[in-house]
Amino acid sequence: MPVVNRGAMAYERANIQRMQGYVPGKQPQDAGTIKLNTNENPYPPSPAVMRALTSIAAESLRKYPPPLADAFREVAADLHHVTPDSVIATNGGDELLRLALTTFVEPGRPIGVLEPSYSLYPVLAEIHDSPVVHVDAVAGYSVPPDFAAKMNAAGVQLSLLVNPHAPSGALTPVSTLRAIAQELDGVLLVDEAYVDFVEPGLGHNLVPEVKSQKNLLILRTMSKGYGLAGLRYGYGLGHPELIAPMLTKTRDSYNVDAIAQRLATAALQDQAYARDTWQRVRSERARVTLALRGVGFVVPDSQSNFVLATVPAGSLNAPALRDALEQRQLLVRYFNAPGLTDKLRITIGSPEENDRLLATLTALLAGL
Ligand SMILES: *Cc1c(COP(=O)(O)O)cnc(C)c1O
Repeated sequence: MPVVNRGAMAYERANIQRMQGYVPGKQPQDAGTIKLNTNENPYPPSPAVMRALTSIAAESLRKYPPPLADAFREVAADLHHVTPDSVIATNGGDELLRLALTTFVEPGRPIGVLEPSYSLYPVLAEIHDSPVVHVDAVAGYSVPPDFAAKMNAAGVQLSLLVNPHAPSGALTPVSTLRAIAQELDGVLLVDEAYVDFVEPGLGHNLVPEVKSQKNLLILRTMSKGYGLAGLRYGYGLGHPELIAPMLTKTRDSYNVDAIAQRLATAALQDQAYARDTWQRVRSERARVTLALRGVGFVVPDSQSNFVLATVPAGSLNAPALRDALEQRQLLVRYFNAPGLTDKLRITIGSPEENDRLLATLTALLAGL
């Protein structure tokens, strides 16, 4: 019999063959580019993190890391006033999303998302071979009152809400999220990737809800608020009964490495440093929002470290403006998706970076 050399595609599962992978924002390695496209923190991690890095002993690399990241979980539990069994450490917040699907969703059963939101959610659903139930956001990118009813009717086992919302920065209050969680038949994952940038005066804190709401899972990440996107570290907060199956069954045995555990712990312990960077980002966010409005963009108030700016009519359209900025070494994000095609998502950078952005945008709009 002749050996038939099948194309490699023939080995993929049908859903993997059908899908397109996630397309991340550009990550140029040159120092000259101003990156306002992937919501990184403009400030470096705490000096305590760099001290922890230089003090890593060879011995701690020879051995496997603590499998459950116990020291990290204790520090996180202290910070959030929960018990360590309410915390799971993950390889980036993205791993928690994957674990939530693996743990709570039968393959083939749907997940539910608000539209628009994080474009990774549908990609993870495709990998899991789960359809996606989309519910459109209503005025001001808020969650419609019938969100939970629609999810229940569709048999959704996991609903995902990003709060503050991405890509708009709108904040849904705790009372609304609590009511949604209470009404849902399945798990509610609230993706708080950007919650560190919420105005502290609002007193927004969803974490206490996990003590009574057993289907509520909160995602946190070190990537945005702590300036550690390169480290790949996040964590989940939830009722111990909700966390347990991920902690003891579906997680890779050593999902977060020894270096990452030490550095993430040091970062969480230096709250004073982190809070200072968040405050800087918030004050620049206010300045950038006003300046963009001043040159004709429509910009809703954001509680995040980015703004969603509608490009004024009669100028370059959004993708053309994105390209023109890129030619001037300024990266911003454009989404070719329903409701977003006239908008740019712009990360809040350092004051100098924001100055460059605003000056360049002003010149481009004036046709210079
Ligand atoms: C950045 C981000 C995450 C988590 O990212 P990691 O770098 O994997 O921790 C999750 N959700 C949203 C909406 C994000 O923007």
